[in-house]
Parts: sequence; C-alpha cells; structure tokens
Amino acid sequence: MDAEQLRENAHKMVDFIADYYKNIETFPVLSQVEPGYLRDLLPHSAPDQPESLQNILDDIQAKILPGVTHWQSPNYFAYFPSNSSVAGFLGEMLSAGINMVGFSWITSPAATELEMIVLDWLAKLLKLPDHFLSTGQGGGVIQGTASEAVLVVLLAARDKVLRITGKDALGKLVVYCSDQTHSALQKACQIAGIHPGNCRVLKTESCNDYSLSPETFEQAISTDVASGLIPLLLCATVGTTSSTAVDPLLELGKITKMKGIWLHVDAAYAGSACVCPEFRHYIDGVEEADSFNMNAHKWFLTNFDCSALWVKDRSALIHSLSTNPEFLKNKASQENLVVDYKDWQIPLGRRFRSLKLWMVLRLYGLENLQSYIRNHIQLAATFESFVTEDPRFEVVAPRKFALVCFRLLPPSHKDEDCSNQLNRDLLDAVNATGKAFVSHTALSGRYVVRFAIGAPLTEESHIIEAWKIFQEVATVLLKSLKMNHTRPLN
Ligand SMILES: *Cc1c(COP(=O)(O)O)cnc(C)c1O
Repeated sequence: MDAEQLRENAHKMVDFIADYYKNIETFPVLSQVEPGYLRDLLPHSAPDQPESLQNILDDIQAKILPGVTHWQSPNYFAYFPSNSSVAGFLGEMLSAGINMVGFSWITSPAATELEMIVLDWLAKLLKLPDHFLSTGQGGGVIQGTASEAVLVVLLAARDKVLRITGKDALGKLVVYCSDQTHSALQKACQIAGIHPGNCRVLKTESCNDYSLSPETFEQAISTDVASGLIPLLLCATVGTTSSTAVDPLLELGKITKMKGIWLHVDAAYAGSACVCPEFRHYIDGVEEADSFNMNAHKWFLTNFDCSALWVKDRSALIHSLSTNPEFLKNKASQENLVVDYKDWQIPLGRRFRSLKLWMVLRLYGLENLQSYIRNHIQLAATFESFVTEDPRFEVVAPRKFALVCFRLLPPSHKDEDCSNQLNRDLLDAVNATGKAFVSHTALSGRYVVRFAIGAPLTEESHIIEAWKIFQEVATVLLKSLKMNHTRPLN
C-alpha cells in the first residue's frame, strides 16, 4: 500500500465512477446479456504479470458494465430501491480506507462506540421507545441485511425460551408470520431448527389490504397451545415486500405481550419513511416490540449494506451468540465495560459500517432526508394517478409509500384467465426496452406489476416516460390479443 499510488489510482477510479453516474441513463437499466456471457470474454486464468489500471477500466467499460443491472439508474423501479448517495459513498470509501475489523471494542473502540451513538440517533429520529437505546437494557446494531437481523432475533428468542423449558422443547416452538412476510423468516426458521410444520403462515385477505388480522393470529395461538405447542415469535411487517401492507402493531403487540411471545417488526423498506411525522403512525405499537429492523440501505441514502436492528433486551442476543476464546480475551471485555458486537451477530468480523450512516445523517440532516422520502411518495402518487386515469389498467393494492401495484386489465371479463399471461408479457416487453426496469409479485393469485420509486436520481420526467412505455406496450399487446383472440399468447 503506497500512499501516492493510492492517491493517483483512486482519483482515476473516482473519475470513472463519476462518469458512470453521469452516463447512467445511456445503459439499458436491466442488463440484456445471456447467462454465461462473461466466460468467453475473459481469460481462463489470472495473469502472471501485473496489468495497468487503464486496461482493467477498459474491460469494465466493455465487458462488465453490459452485465450490470443499474440499480442507481433513475429508471430503476424494480424490487425495492437500494440507495447510493455521495455521503454513503464517502462513508464506504473511508470504511474501505481504514479497513479495520471491529469484532470487539478493543479492535477499534471508535467503530463500536460510533455504531452505538449513530443507532441511538436513528432510533430517536424514528421515535423508537427508549428501551431500544444503548443507554438502557437494549440497543442497536448494524447487521448486513434484514435476513440476518431476523435470524439473530429468532435465535435469541429461541434460546431464551429453551433456557426455561429445556432444549427438548425445540420441536414444540412455533413461529408466526403472514403469507406476506418476507421469505427471510422462512430461511431463518430453517437455520434455527424450528420444526418445518411449526412455521405458521397466516393467511391475509385483500379486503384487509393484505395485513395480518389479530383475530387470525389469536386463533392460531389458541389452537397451538391446545395441542401442547409453545408460541415463540411473531414476525410482523410494516411495508411488506409484495404490496407494502402494514400489520397492525398495536393490536398484535397486545397479544404478544399478553402471551409472552417475542414480537419482531420487519420494517426493512418502510422504516425509512417513519422519520417523517406524517408516516410515523405506521409503526405505532412498536413500543411492545422486542426487536425492530429497518434497512438504511434501501431507502435511506446509505450504500449497501446497512441494516439497522434494535433489540429491547441485548442480553438475549448475547446469550445466544457469544463465545469467549482465549485469543480474543482482553481487559475491557473481561471487565464487562464495553459492547463487543461480535456477540450480536453471526460472523466474527465486521466492517466499520456506521461511518456511512453517520455521514448520511450529518451531510444531509433530518430535513433533507424527510423531503427526500416525501418526494418519492409524491412521485408515486402521481404515477398512481396515471394508472387510475387509464381505464385499461387497475391499481391492485392501496398505495401507502412509494410502491404502486397495478395490472393491465384483460380486454373483457371473460378473458380474466389470460390476464396473468398478459401482464407477464407486459412486464417482459417493458423491461426489454431497457428504458425502465420493473418487477412483479402475485396478489390473490393475480400477476401484478410492482412499480417501486426510490432511486435517488428519479425525477418526475422519468416516471412520465416510464408510464408512456407501459401505455405503448399495452396498446401493442391488446391489439395482438384482439387479432388472435382464439390463440393464447406465447
Ligand atoms: C427487502 C426486505 C427484506 C430482505 O432484505 P435483506 O436486507 O436483503 O435481507 C426483508 N423484509 C422486507 C419487508 C423487505 O422489504
């Protein structure tokens, strides 16, 4: 590591990245390459001799970027956003520069202490209850992803109960979620050894906007308790992945509290919106939660990865996840004076991720972050009105944040069964233009287009353009459907 060499090359790389952002709209948003495209473009083995940075940058331009799907493009509307920002980028850069591994406090005291402070800051912006602050029995920790967050809380909840019941009760533990809960919970159950038959996926209804009904939850608990099972954890979601449904935390929290069930709130996407007072009500009831998670890397201008998790009782996590080998022993840890984040997560090693969140909070400030969120929600409302005004389309689930779920209606009611294929064709054709990238979901058995606004560069002109593409493609599809109305599409 030669400092002057770093300076020279890093300047070139920053120029390369800045040019990438400048030209980002010239690439097809969704990569159009075929599987295996790269193998023929690159040598079969690593070089014996060093190559120049310029040669490598040329390869990136010619061979790598065509295989990139441009999540930072203003025409990116798929899945959920994964924000990048100048502040987030600078924080990532600094983290890579310092490149420490902060598993224990002693390995870099600033990394642990900044993480505690920044997560306390963010908890206050979200108006989370005081017991999630590091000054009480709980505290915040940055996980890589929401999937890791739900896994560690499930392990903590599981072991807390098994310490009382004995390990033999593992097969009796029941985890609750809805049919809209993210698949990350399913994976966590598999890893945590929850009996496959004991993951209750409770059905939601379109008339409830796909939120989990407290009555359904209560009934499931009663049935399970009557069969000698032990209710363990409920994963409630604020802003589901399919349609941004919001589970009623207040009512669900009353039940979990009464029954002694761990309540985890997954607000991976929508948590960011709760820094705005007008959207904070979506997490009313979080006061009864045992853990709360939001992905700063989705919609909060913090480069991937940065998933903020708060727990009410940090000792539950530490009980499950701590180890104390001789080679890691040190005075501060032994005397219990410090937080060692290695005991709050799956891996040992961890990056200095709080830097980028700290940079985001300081370089932008709350007011800018609020107007950032509000702008996307406003754009989504505009897009929703485009859909509503065109009688060929329908909005399929109510919009709460910046996701619009809609579909193209079949030309007449008797064609309802061709609707799913029609919308699949619509999505493929729009994505094949390279001018916009959208993804889909299924709601009540219907194939639905998800239009998620949230890329930092997206402006009104981009959603107007995207809607034009939808309309044009729809016109072509409906016309060909009319001409071949006896032949199914494809
Ligand atoms: C995106 C998302 C997840 C998964 O996020 P990762 O950080 O990629 O694990 C989980 N839950 C919800 C509600 C999400 O939107």
